[in-house]
Amino acid sequence: MTLPPLKLFLLFSLFSISFSHETPSSHDHHHVFPRPLILEYSELEEEVRLRCSSWRFAGEANNLSPWKTVPKECAEYVKEYMTGKGYVYDLEIVSKEAEEYAKSVQLNEDGLDAWIFDIDETLLSNLPYYAAHGFGLQVFDHAKFDDWVVKGVAPAIEPSLKLYEDVLNLGYKVILLTGRSEQHRAVTVDNLINAGFRDWHQLILRGSDDKGKRAVIYKSEKRSEMEKDGYRILGNSGDQWSDLIGSSLSVKSFKLPNPMYYIS
Ligand SMILES: [Mg+2]
Repeated sequence: MTLPPLKLFLLFSLFSISFSHETPSSHDHHHVFPRPLILEYSELEEEVRLRCSSWRFAGEANNLSPWKTVPKECAEYVKEYMTGKGYVYDLEIVSKEAEEYAKSVQLNEDGLDAWIFDIDETLLSNLPYYAAHGFGLQVFDHAKFDDWVVKGVAPAIEPSLKLYEDVLNLGYKVILLTGRSEQHRAVTVDNLINAGFRDWHQLILRGSDDKGKRAVIYKSEKRSEMEKDGYRILGNSGDQWSDLIGSSLSVKSFKLPNPMYYIS
């Protein structure tokens, strides 16, 4: 798996030699080649990075068992991912692919072609909250999270806002389906509008009958009701597999990245 120190040393020496040959005009190639940086990038760090990347991939592919917190050794990795370009690029590609699909569908004239969006970590970002709570390292605290929700200041996830507007302009009926409670309707509406979202057709929150239901059951039931109302669910965007699987599935579903928490 790992190279013995001697081989590593030879590897770096070779890099230095080939580098100096390619730049004969360089007066002091030892300063040009970022040698100390490469040596500081230890094998252990690389191993952790690879293992955490495998963990994240397994999560995104829904191959992990239900999990409560980010593994301790991946705390720094997840923080780096969430605050760096990786998360943004992953969001952008989902948005772009969803838009391509949305544009490719010939909609009916009856106004019953629907696109479902989840809210948290799909349209609105709770990153400011999670940044203050270890980016998923801490066990989820409902009371503290609700304190954050009622502030109503979650920013838009920009690539999702773009998809949202494209989908609206194409003529889809936008239905918002969230695990947030009905008692947070007003603050959620204000937050969505302040973040730039508009003209949704329906906003469905957990009512008293939905309390205690697993998300996958609650969301499947709500999609079933949409179908009974005549809607054709053509697209569905969510950051949790429980937004997308179950029954009354969308024709096509789009999974946004989220390595911070898991909801079944
Ligand atoms: Mg969500």
